[in-house]
This record gives sequence, C-alpha cells and structure tokens, in this order.
Amino acid sequence: MTVAPPSPAEAARAQAIAWIGQAPKRLLIGGQWVDAVSGKTFETLNPATEQLLCRVAEAEQADVDAAVAAARKAFEAPSWSAMSPHSRTRALLRIADKVEAHIPELAAIESLDNGMPLWYATAAATACADIFRYYAGWCSKVLGTTIPSDGSTLIYTLREPLGVCGQIIPWNVPVLMASIKFANALCCGNTVVLKPAELACLTSIRLAELIQETDLPPGVINVLPGFGPTAGAALAQHLGVDKIAFTGSTAVGKQVVRDATSNLKKVTLELGSKAPNVVFADADLDKAIATAVKTFCGNSGQVCSAGTRLFVQESIHDEVAERVASEAATWKAGDPFAADTKLGPLISARQRDRVWSYIGAGQESGAALRLGGKAWNGPGYFVEPTVFDNVKNGMKIAQEEIFGPVLSIIPFKDEDDAVLQGNETTYGLSAAVWTRDVSRAHKVVKALKAGRLWINTFGEADPAMAFGGYKQSGWGREFGAESIEAYTQAKSVMVRL
Ligand code: ADP
Repeated sequence: MTVAPPSPAEAARAQAIAWIGQAPKRLLIGGQWVDAVSGKTFETLNPATEQLLCRVAEAEQADVDAAVAAARKAFEAPSWSAMSPHSRTRALLRIADKVEAHIPELAAIESLDNGMPLWYATAAATACADIFRYYAGWCSKVLGTTIPSDGSTLIYTLREPLGVCGQIIPWNVPVLMASIKFANALCCGNTVVLKPAELACLTSIRLAELIQETDLPPGVINVLPGFGPTAGAALAQHLGVDKIAFTGSTAVGKQVVRDATSNLKKVTLELGSKAPNVVFADADLDKAIATAVKTFCGNSGQVCSAGTRLFVQESIHDEVAERVASEAATWKAGDPFAADTKLGPLISARQRDRVWSYIGAGQESGAALRLGGKAWNGPGYFVEPTVFDNVKNGMKIAQEEIFGPVLSIIPFKDEDDAVLQGNETTYGLSAAVWTRDVSRAHKVVKALKAGRLWINTFGEADPAMAFGGYKQSGWGREFGAESIEAYTQAKSVMVRL
C-alpha cells in the first residue's frame, strides 16, 4: 500500500509546527537572540483551537534600552551608514528572495498564530516579497534637490535617514506589517526596533531569522515581542528613538503621540477606519457584491481598510442586501488549513466578545439583521458573517470600527447623499465607488475624504500606491513616494561660490 504524500497545506503546517516547537522564541537584539532581562515569557495561542502554541520572551524597558542602543550603534557603523545605495538594493533583494523561498512556511506560521485561513496568509506572505523588491528599487532613488539661485551660490538639499525607528505593529496581518515597516525604513538607511503585537508575533520572529540569514549587519533590525503598555510605551517614549511608526487602533495611536512628545520624535500613524463602499444602481452588481463581501469578510474583517459601510442606492438596496447576505453565507468558517475554509476565527476571546457586543448594539438600535447573529458552537474565537441592512449612518455599528465580519448596508438617494453620508465619519483611510458612469466615478472619489480610493474594485493594493489616512485614520503615508519622505529628513545646504 502506498501512503499519499502530504498536501502542500499539510506539509506547510508540519513545517510551521516544527519551527514553533523549537524553543525558545526570544528577542533579537544586536544580531543575537536573547532572553528578556527579566526572564519573563508570555503565551501565544492558536485562535482556531484556543491551544497554546508556544511561549515567547517578553520585552520590557531594559530590553528596549538594549535594542535601541544596538540600533543606534548599527546606524552609526560604516557597515550600514556608508553602504552604497546599490549594495542596499542588493541587501533588500536578498531579503525578498529569502521571503519568497519561505512563503508556505511563513503563511502556515501566520495561520497558526493569527488564525487567518491559509489562502489569505499565503497571499499576504507573497505580497511581502514584492514589498521588499519595491523598496529595493528605491534605495538609489532617495534624491535631494537643487534649488535655483542667482549664480553666486549653490543651494541643494540632501535627504538623509532619520536614525533609529521604533515600529509598533498590530496582530491582524503581522508578516505584511513587519515587511512594510522593515523595507521602508531600511531602504532609506535607518535602523529598526520592531515591536510586534503580543497576540501574534511569531511571523515577525521568523521573518527576522530569515533576514538575519541574509547577512544584514547586526543591530540593523531588532525585534522585541512584548505588551503595548510596557514594551510599546517604552519604545514610544524612548529618548534614543528618532521616529515611531505605529499601526493599530486610533485610541492607542493618540497615546503613542502623547508618549512621543518626550523628545519630539517623528511620528507616523496608520489607524482605524470605517470605509464607505458606494454602489450606484448602474454598477456591475455581480462584481460589486462579490467584492463587497470579500472586503468585509476577508481576514474576518480584521483589516483597517475593510469596506464596513456598504452604501447602496435606494432603488437596488433590497436586491443588493439579499444578494450580499447569500454570498456572505457561503463564507464557510472552520479550520484555517482546510481547502474550503474562507473565514478564520477572530484573534482572541476579547475581540470576539467585542464584536458580539456590536452585533447586540446593532440589533438594539433597530437595524435589520439579514445574516448572522448565531453563536459559534465549538472551540475557536469564530464569528460568522453578519449583515445588517437599512442601517442609519449615525448608528453605533456604522460609526465605530468593529474589526470583525460585520457589515452595515446603508441606503442613499443620489451622488450628493452618498458623498455626504460617506464622509460622515471621524475616519478616512479608504473608500470605493462602483458605477459605469466615468464622470460620476471621478467626481465621487474626489469628494470622498480618504487616503486610498478605488473605482470598481476594493482592497487591491500595489506597493507604489500610497496608503494612509485622512482625519483620525492617521498621519503620513506608507508605500509609494510619500513613504520615502516619512523615513527621511531634508537637509538644505548653501555654498557661497
Ligand atoms: P488592537 O486594538 O488592534 O489590538 P492596538 O492598537 O491595541 O490594536 O495594538 C496595536 C499595537 O500597539 C500592538 O503591538 C500593541 O501591543 C501596541 N500597543 C498597545 N498599547 C500600547 C501603548 N500604550 N503604547 C505603545 N504601543 C501599544
């Protein structure tokens, strides 16, 4: 009898479990994997099973001090500061190749630690390699300017790195978040102290191991798993940190800003959202509906740019609501490694309870529950797709970021009404419009106040497209040319000739 070889998903899961089982998971400081000074560790769980995956060293103030010192030393060292732009390009390309060669393993670790389905994790890990390649191309294009003068002077600017960058990332798509932060900072010549989220930090550790294998000078990247109020706050407050880049909730983003005043370090923030996804009656409804469901169910709605407010023109509201609900019902929840699973669990019991409280608030406020609302029977922090229709934009479920697979369908009359309601939010990260009318499409994207817009699609990304928020969705931009400014500073020079 021949035994069938394991499927690619089973093989990736076995590889990930083998890596997770290699104890211990430590802090990366100055090129060495070390225990926390306190010796403390914390647990990381599999959200699909609620079982312990492993324990991880817990960074606190003393570890932050050591990592910041290592990052400073690496920043000053000629091995990094005097590296030619082309060598830096090659360094980032080596990282890209390394990441690409480990996509199945990174994806499987992410699925186990975060709970996202393997298909989603694979797409995220695949995007990481392209992000490193995108920034590899920038290394030789971080340009200063020459400024016109009367000929008796030469005036020019230099764009220089900021120095030591503290980077705090969330748990929702950790491998992607860590890749964006590393690649952007390194291409501009900075060094990094990254604090992954306590709820899902394993791919940040594995990614750092892979990066170490590419011979990046020690201390250029440092990784400190730990908790927000201790390790995160210590990094945000640290006098030796030149910039803090934070991705997470708006409430914590505001705290990071307050902490960063200690030395007025530069701050960029990528925060929450309540994105409007506007569907006019003339749209290609098949595509609009499938995409609307994908954007609120993808990663169980734990995506800052998710289209959680679906504005539908009155004449097609009922039809679209019904079709969205039946499409969302096909999003089968279950084992993240099963081929037919589309929806994974939420990250934690706390997050599940929070999402449930919003589902309760939606029902109490009189919105019509079209789909969902049934408790999950079994282990794992699952919440099945939940659709409310005839929602009023002022309701709590339409105003607050839920970070779960919960959609508010809101009717609108015409173009002006769609824009008015779409902009009635404290957030402004992303938005989309669906219509076959080209003029209307462009007028509406111009009028919507958000940092990333789509016409007849939602959620697609390219590293060359800037990403960031209007209003309380953040400060600064990631990706694109704008992100180079966010990791450099200008020095202007006058020469008397
Ligand atoms: P979420 O609500 O999505 O968990 P958070 O904003 O709480 O997002 O967390 C995002 C990241 O911010 C995590 O790495 C977390 O540890 C960190 N964090 C939480 N609180 C603080 C804080 N007071 N200072 C700095 N970082 C923090």
